[in-house]
Amino acid sequence: MYKLIDGKKVAESIRNKIKDEINSLDTKPGLAVVLIGNDPSSKVYVNLKYKKCMEVGIESYKYELSEDSSEDDVIELITKLNDDKKINGILVQMPLPKHINRNNVLKAVDVSKDVDGFNPESIGNLILNKQGLYPCTPVGIIKLIDHYNIDVKGKEVVVIGNSIIVGNPISQLLLNRMATVTVCHIETKDLSLYTKKADIIISAVGKKNLVTKDMVKEGVIIFDVGINKDKEDGKIYGDVDFEQVKDLCSYITPVPGGIGPMTIACLLENTLIAYKNQGKDK
Ligand code: NAD
Repeated sequence: MYKLIDGKKVAESIRNKIKDEINSLDTKPGLAVVLIGNDPSSKVYVNLKYKKCMEVGIESYKYELSEDSSEDDVIELITKLNDDKKINGILVQMPLPKHINRNNVLKAVDVSKDVDGFNPESIGNLILNKQGLYPCTPVGIIKLIDHYNIDVKGKEVVVIGNSIIVGNPISQLLLNRMATVTVCHIETKDLSLYTKKADIIISAVGKKNLVTKDMVKEGVIIFDVGINKDKEDGKIYGDVDFEQVKDLCSYITPVPGGIGPMTIACLLENTLIAYKNQGKDK
């Protein structure tokens, strides 16, 4: 019988802890969320982050720039936010309009306020296994691994997807914990060759039913990061065919209610960490 990894519940307890800690502070941490353009999903995510910030007592400041803003406009805003004392964390919502170079924008965010963990220095800290602000979704997965006492040392982990947001950083975090990590991606010739051997599968692709019953071994642990809105029923699905695969698993995350709530909880936690670290510098 599989166990469901309840990200919703774990995220709630993280948010409650954050709320209690913020209640005891003299000032409130501040998070700036920068949205460029009109991407409808980005607007939904930004509003959700705003709401969750308010619930735990983080002041959230929304900065909306038009689709035709230049890279200089964006970097000018980020530079201002870097210098703004009431802002402790800066998040630039992805994806950016095509004419803006993502790396230049991410590099502009001060590393002490880089709550998304995408600044090259933050990525360097992750690879060097140094303390720092790490990307929220991968940190959320690690928190679930810890919460459920899952030992990853020496385990065969297959990560599907190699994006800078999820696939690469979670691979590195697991390597830092001495897992044996295989990273698969769109050019992987035979995905099932790898997934069949895996003790743990982390799928971060965005393709419904990518992982099916015949691709996994009995007792596997699955973290499904994918978010896929089905055009027919309008429901959200992960990358894994949950109904088919669940009985082979020892643990599995549901979608929704698995990784998603953890991502936001870790963003709030990163904002609080950034606030506290900046206080130490004064
Ligand atoms: P991305 O588009 O940047 O990366 C997708 C990755 O999947 C790439 O590495 C690509 O090579 C790989 N890929 C594509 N097709 C493949 C295939 N057929 N076989 C194997 N690999 C394949 O996406 P991302 O930002 O990393 O997000 C991945 C998914 O996770 C999306 O569905 C996204 O919505 C979701 N996501 C969820 C959360 C959350 O909090 N739950 C957070 C971030 C992303």
